[in-house]
Amino acid sequence: MSRTVYLNGQYLPEEEAMVSIFDRGFVMGDAVYEVTCVLDGKLTEFEGHMARLERSLRELEMTCDISREEWLAIHRKLIELNGLTDGGVYLQVTRGNAGDRDFHFPPAGTPATVVLYTQSKPGLANDPHALTGIKVISVPDLRWHRRDIKTVQLLWASMAKMMAEKAGKDDAWFVEDGFVTEGSSNNCYIVKGNKIITRNLSNDILHGITRGSVLKMAREAQLEIEERPFTIEEAQAADEAFYTSASAFVMPIVEVDGVSLGDGTPGRVSKRLREIYIEESRKVAI
Ligand code: PMP
Repeated sequence: MSRTVYLNGQYLPEEEAMVSIFDRGFVMGDAVYEVTCVLDGKLTEFEGHMARLERSLRELEMTCDISREEWLAIHRKLIELNGLTDGGVYLQVTRGNAGDRDFHFPPAGTPATVVLYTQSKPGLANDPHALTGIKVISVPDLRWHRRDIKTVQLLWASMAKMMAEKAGKDDAWFVEDGFVTEGSSNNCYIVKGNKIITRNLSNDILHGITRGSVLKMAREAQLEIEERPFTIEEAQAADEAFYTSASAFVMPIVEVDGVSLGDGTPGRVSKRLREIYIEESRKVAI
């Protein structure tokens, strides 16, 4: 069945939602996005995603005059129109239709292109991968250096996922100057005893909304947090590892570049944080 999607103020059947071939998102990858998770028909971490969206737009000098209240209303209407229970709402804002291909930004006042749609993932919180844990390979981080801005320029992330798949694994970790930056679409962590180690925030990584909440919950659970870069060798010697993202929550990692972590099953801290995070997210979802 066709979804109803949102395009520039209109709710349309997905087949009828068309964007110009001159759109900056299409021609230049000149666009930012957000994915907000939906559990039981409610949005999790909505304010965090909207705050990051506003920051991404600002950093790229892009304007989009939709207020937080309006964003919330659009998200809610799409959830309702599509009967979404579990999954996510994808949101993309581009610099709009420039009328031709040109490296210069379109004139001020050119309207942004705004697209939102739902993606259904029934039973999202019961992903069987969380029971077995996932396996990652490392690949060099060949992305640009403003990874803190959530742009749609995801080609290297997409290629890294394909490399992992070809290697018979689940995901890839990016490595730069000998240190892990982040996962192909997630932030990553290692655990040693009672201590969680994760890369500090900078332009090198996306400032994950899930990361912020999980670290706060970990502190409340009396875990020690060390925000600093770590190496693949350190990860391989860790007791456990996990990653975080809006749609995977806290995902245990059991293997890094062919080396099993701990006893090769999801670790105690990863499992506990996953439970806490999902429970809390459900409680505060709107
Ligand atoms: N890093 C990258 C590169 C990502 O693509 C994502 C997911 N969009 C994340 C981290 C996790 O961010 P969040 O927790 O906000 O989903």
